[in-house]
Amino acid sequence: MKFNEVANIFEQIEKTSSRNEITTLLSNFYKSLTKEEGQILSYMVLGRVAPFFVNSEFNYSEKSLLTLLSNYEKVNMGKEEIKDKRIELGDIGDTTKFFSQEAKFRSQSLSVKEIYEILWSIVNIQGSGSVEKKNTTILETLKKLSPLEAKYFVRIICGQLRFGISFKTLLDVFSFLISGSKDIREELDRAYGVTADIGYIYSIIAKKGLEKAVVGLNSVKLQPGIPVLPRLVERVGKFEETFERTGVPALVQSKYDGLRCQIHKYESKNYEDREYIWAKYIKKKDIGLFDMSSSGVEVKLFTRNLEDITAMFPEIVESAKSVDEKSFILDSEVLGFKDGKFLSFQETMQRRRKYGVTDTSKDIPVKGMVFDILFLNGEDILSKDTVDRVEILEKVDLENSLERCKTERVQTLEELMEIFNKNVEQGYEGVIVKMKTGGYLPGVRNYDWIKLKKSMMNALVDTVDLVCVGYYYGSGRRSDLGVGAVLGALYNEDMDVYEAICKVGTGITDEQLKDIRKQLDSKVKEEKPKSVLCPEYLKPDVWVYPEVVFSVEADEITSRLGEEEIGGGLSLRFPRLIEWDRDKSATDATRVTELEEMFKMVK
Ligand code: ATP
Repeated sequence: MKFNEVANIFEQIEKTSSRNEITTLLSNFYKSLTKEEGQILSYMVLGRVAPFFVNSEFNYSEKSLLTLLSNYEKVNMGKEEIKDKRIELGDIGDTTKFFSQEAKFRSQSLSVKEIYEILWSIVNIQGSGSVEKKNTTILETLKKLSPLEAKYFVRIICGQLRFGISFKTLLDVFSFLISGSKDIREELDRAYGVTADIGYIYSIIAKKGLEKAVVGLNSVKLQPGIPVLPRLVERVGKFEETFERTGVPALVQSKYDGLRCQIHKYESKNYEDREYIWAKYIKKKDIGLFDMSSSGVEVKLFTRNLEDITAMFPEIVESAKSVDEKSFILDSEVLGFKDGKFLSFQETMQRRRKYGVTDTSKDIPVKGMVFDILFLNGEDILSKDTVDRVEILEKVDLENSLERCKTERVQTLEELMEIFNKNVEQGYEGVIVKMKTGGYLPGVRNYDWIKLKKSMMNALVDTVDLVCVGYYYGSGRRSDLGVGAVLGALYNEDMDVYEAICKVGTGITDEQLKDIRKQLDSKVKEEKPKSVLCPEYLKPDVWVYPEVVFSVEADEITSRLGEEEIGGGLSLRFPRLIEWDRDKSATDATRVTELEEMFKMVK
């Protein structure tokens, strides 16, 4: 398969707004691909070369590309002219396409595989002089691409492919490919839940053939070293509702407010039987990529969002290594911990950094509070009941920076309230109540796990996570800062779109507004992104791609009668920013159906 054909299909996706049409288009296209090409395409459509848990970013900016183009002596376009063209065309891909036409670059029919290898070679250029080295590779590649191919090639390396398609759409595509409908989503969701690798899922389907694909998907197992989608937690409107959902006795644990962290310990060399197309391209050990060549004990840490954060928490890695068990996967919350006390969420987050880890780890040591176990010494225990997993966890000796979270058994509402109040008094966010039975369902949110938070005392029940889809300039002093307020949207899972519901301008400091503007500048879209729905009266001054998630608190959920088609007709009264840029992808934002549920709870 030539990259040219992929560029053509990308162009069609770009022009299609119907999600169903995109699904059909892609599932037909997959039929013409080999297994390897299908794996590559699965990452490429998401603008990547590997799954999310492999740190394989291009680290190449649009600015560098514009400079590169303006330095190309055979096309007479100075820096300013290129910049103007970029503004006029509104997109780095179209700007490069124009440039490529001017330069008369012609397609040399590179294959998808060749482009994939070039993309990896760019990822693998690190260290001093890397921009120059990347420039050389990029220019040499552009000379071999048609203007249309160039458009999509640069969009990928600048992180601006932005079809508004998530891995969920791809799972729909695979389901259509297998059965002609969405019927296989359950099997696909389960398999994706334990591998988090869209290309690998495709390889299973292709290997087994469409008829036996379901058998293949059902046999996919979790493997230490490869993250599992984290189990999510549901909310209820009243404390009384808890036991109606979980039954009694139920399990109760403190709700820690830190960074979700999956801890994997395993003997390396356990990847070999899997067909990870990305694995052989990984070069650098020190940038947190998988080290396929090492032997001996490895520890890996992953966030809720599957980001590999092993390098950020050396003390957790050391503590995991010293545990007297050969292999495990633990689920935990990591928090700053000093002088016998947990630190605030903000302080903990200062440890989320790639550089200067040794210094900050002295100032802000952390503890991993372990609340679940999914795998122990070669045995997958995902499907064991929560009560049994907790019992297994209780037998694992954790020490130093790892501590087991206490699990209490409760029968009555009085007992539950007593534990809840004790936790709040001690400064915790609240408690998590877990049904005794039921396995650890990766990526699933249901009432088997329920959060009871301090904020339930407010009318809103819980904070809401919105995706930023635009911003307003604001007036007066704020307009000088570049942003007056941001536009927040909910996620509609069925349609894979974002539905704008309210403007948020409160709770943001001037400093934050400046940073927000800087961050959003790289996400601007001339017109409304096609994955965004927005009522006319909320139209922002500037649209941005739905990528940044932020948490808000509000006085109440209100209903906009007669406008039910967007965001369930709901809005938030007096929303205030609690946290900008959460550790979440856009598809993890609060869903429209969730806000509807919350609205019913407080009515
Ligand atoms: P989401 O449910 O989408 O993660 P969120 O990030 O706002 O939403 P919360 O609503 O505050 O998270 O609560 C769920 C989170 O609480 C879990 O994802 C986990 O990170 C954290 N947590 C803390 N303590 C526990 C515990 N004992 N058991 C499970 N999760 C816990």
